[in-house]
Amino acid sequence: MIKIKNLKKKYGELEVLKGISTEIKEGEVISVIGPSGSGKSTFLRCINRLEDPTSGEIWVNGKNIMENGVDINKIREEIGMVFQHFNLYPHKTAIENITLGPIRLKKMSKVEAEKLAMELLEKVGLSDKKDVYPNKLSGGQKQRVAIARALAMNPKIILFDEPTSALDPEMIGEVLEVMKELANAGMTMIVVTHEMGFARNVANRVFFMDEGYILEDAKPQDLFDNPKSERARIFLDKVL
Ligand code: ADP
Ligand code: MG
Repeated sequence: MIKIKNLKKKYGELEVLKGISTEIKEGEVISVIGPSGSGKSTFLRCINRLEDPTSGEIWVNGKNIMENGVDINKIREEIGMVFQHFNLYPHKTAIENITLGPIRLKKMSKVEAEKLAMELLEKVGLSDKKDVYPNKLSGGQKQRVAIARALAMNPKIILFDEPTSALDPEMIGEVLEVMKELANAGMTMIVVTHEMGFARNVANRVFFMDEGYILEDAKPQDLFDNPKSERARIFLDKVL
């Protein structure tokens, strides 16, 4: 589904991604772990073109999304993203946050979009919050609305950038639970996370990133129990 060849990204002189190549199949759930500053967020942001890669190729369903003239908005419809700080529209209610994309970008009728949004709010356990504004929602509830909003575009893959890092500890579980259900339902997901339980138990593959490379790409058990590199070993010693 996704094929990445020698992806590089520089900010000025600083080379943040130094050549990433990988393939991701439909239905895979990939956790990306690694030290702060290793390029995890930049990697995700390049995949849906929130950042312009410096060089390399990114193929999504047989389409090279780095080619001149590709419709970036179309790409972002297919590749959903969930952020650490939710990025909900503060002046829109939960349901309006979800219906906005389908109405504007997918040309769905308001009635149809609201029906879909209600189904998704139900799925994330928030049907009773449909008319509530983000500032009246807890962090965990905001993140579940953000996940419902991503799902409303019917994406082929969802990228999560530390979706639970801004949450109070008691709210982490409810968000991970929704993500686990999505994973079990077959959604293709790339999840940058510090939640090693999720990486070990839900993901079927883990990337360990270090200094702009994917240093290890392995099954969770193999990576956690038997890391190949000294770097990964040191990192895991600190976080486990
Ligand atoms: P991670 O998510 O693994 O913590 P990032 O991808 O956010 O790492 O950042 C990798 C490196 O790129 C860091 O050194 C960071 O300071 C730098 N960086 C990230 N975004 C920008 C930017 N917009 N401009 C300049 N440097 C950036
Ligand atoms: Mg980051």
